[in-house]
Amino acid sequence: MKELWRETWEADPPVNSHIIDDPTALVPGFNLPRCEWCLLNRFRSATARCAASLYQWGYTDNPLCICQDTQSMSHIINDCPVNKFEGGLSALHTASDSTREWLAKFTAYAKEERPPQYLNKPPRPTQPRTLSGTGKGR
Ligand SMILES: [Zn+2]
Repeated sequence: MKELWRETWEADPPVNSHIIDDPTALVPGFNLPRCEWCLLNRFRSATARCAASLYQWGYTDNPLCICQDTQSMSHIINDCPVNKFEGGLSALHTASDSTREWLAKFTAYAKEERPPQYLNKPPRPTQPRTLSGTGKGR
């Protein structure tokens, strides 16, 4: 089973797969509290509610970080003069004490920086909605 997983991983490597030495082994931080574990994995997978994603999903009209560059997950960790993690994603991946401190600071910063309307505004429709499949047809 592990070999099949490894082959699948190597055939179509996910984003940031370079930080993973053995795709069949637990990654560092597996024992972290769930909120830290989730946030760490959002950075590892480059998928979360950063400004660029919120913009792409239609929750905001501004994809920029406080530093005025596009705020992707990679930008936050690797390039942002305000928030970057020393050593970048590879260092963050180790789930060290520094990682945990940075995740806590980032969480506090993100709560202050992100206006609450981001969370409540409905997304822009990406394609016309139809009546089929709405769950109202019973
Ligand atoms: Zn920035």
